[in-house]
Amino acid sequence: METVTQVNETNLSFDDTAVAFAGQPDEMLRRKYLIFAAMNNPLLTSAGSSVLKKSFDWGLPVKGIVKETIFEQFCGGETIEESEKTINELAVLNVGTILDYSVEGEKTEEVFEATAREVLRTVEKAKNTPSIPFCVLKLTGIARFSLLEKLQQEGNLTEGDRQSLEQVRSRLDMICRSCKEAGVRIFIDGEETWVQNAIDQLVYEMIKKYNSESAVVYNTFQMYRKDGMQQLRKAMHFAATHQVWLGAKLVRGAYMEKERERAAEMEYPDPINPSKEVTDDLYNQGLKFCLDNKQRIALCSGSHNDYSNYYLTLLIEKHGLKRNDPRVWFAQLYGMSDNLSFALAAHGYNVAKYVPYGPVKHVLPYLIRRAKENTSIMGQTSRELQLIKREMKRRGIRLL
Ligand SMILES: Cc1cc2nc3c(=O)[nH]c(=O)nc-3n(C[C@H](O)[C@H](O)[C@H](O)COP(=O)(O)OP(=O)(O)OC[C@H]3O[C@@H](n4cnc5c(N)ncnc54)[C@H](O)[C@@H]3O)c2cc1C
Repeated sequence: METVTQVNETNLSFDDTAVAFAGQPDEMLRRKYLIFAAMNNPLLTSAGSSVLKKSFDWGLPVKGIVKETIFEQFCGGETIEESEKTINELAVLNVGTILDYSVEGEKTEEVFEATAREVLRTVEKAKNTPSIPFCVLKLTGIARFSLLEKLQQEGNLTEGDRQSLEQVRSRLDMICRSCKEAGVRIFIDGEETWVQNAIDQLVYEMIKKYNSESAVVYNTFQMYRKDGMQQLRKAMHFAATHQVWLGAKLVRGAYMEKERERAAEMEYPDPINPSKEVTDDLYNQGLKFCLDNKQRIALCSGSHNDYSNYYLTLLIEKHGLKRNDPRVWFAQLYGMSDNLSFALAAHGYNVAKYVPYGPVKHVLPYLIRRAKENTSIMGQTSRELQLIKREMKRRGIRLL
């Protein structure tokens, strides 16, 4: 495998905190430091998460403080309109926005309908906004989890289940068709292995229907899965057989603990790779596979990993592609890894960020996951906090 040093000639550096925090005045950086320093503390994060959940349940007036701190750090706003400022700020730095309606909670047919309508609003917004290259959908936002589980287990679907499934298919079809008509691409997020086959089944129906001229619908490939490469190869075979484009969003995967716990509890083989190194290696193999098949695959690499991001720039160069070839995108989450996003964008690569939005109370589970991700592991300062500290030192900003 090529080494990182080979990209030096492009002067691409992920250590340049001046580029990473260019859009952030001193006061904003100091605020960011306080938020990330608080999240770095495991005790505070753990206690804070349960206190926040309870406070919302009890109707205590905590929304304001959450909105001005952690929400502001990781979300665009409560609505598409409120997210406008973030969309524009990212666009100035040549970074696209992927509006992610991140509402989690109640799961009724009415809520699924409302979510589908909201996703359609993001499609409409993307159609009229050049800096919104993709939309995104989590299938369990428009489908009952237990229905997908049942579908995957090939259990006997009742008449009611069959009707619900038709409704899910029709919501998904309406969203994908609108994307095709609007010239907008859509990512379907990857979820737990025990519903993913059912999700795949529905997504490949859409890929077959809408990806004949270009990749409109992207499926997600989680490379922390032992069968990550097989899934990718199988999808490529499907695309070749049906003469369509495969849209592939590669990620490492977000449900590792949950996957392992369930496998242990139900006594089936752990579907996750035995180590981080194996996942890293498979992820990079996946990137290579996509570029090797660039005549049929359009790729988005969703990662905060320095090496994988560097490696993709190497592959782009090796394949003689322009840095902004529409088939290759980099993506990160809003509020994280600006050192990667802004450096890649400054060097002319296609970059976009997931910008979650929705009512504070409903976005809370997403925020808690981000807080936990930024907590110190074995006493090590989180990656983000290290970068913020370095930039404060460079600017000579005192902590208080
Ligand atoms: C734009 C974007 C979209 C995303 N969409 C999805 C999605 O649709 N579905 C989804 O599941 N996730 C999604 N994620 C989250 C993603 O899967 C990762 O959890 C997260 O980005 C961290 O991985 P990383 O590539 O940034 O690299 P790193 O931070 O270097 O890697 C951390 C990841 O490595 C893996 N890992 C860690 N330890 C081990 C171990 N011991 N054994 C095996 N593997 C290990 C885990 O997947 C862990 O999350 C998305 C992330 C981004 C940036």
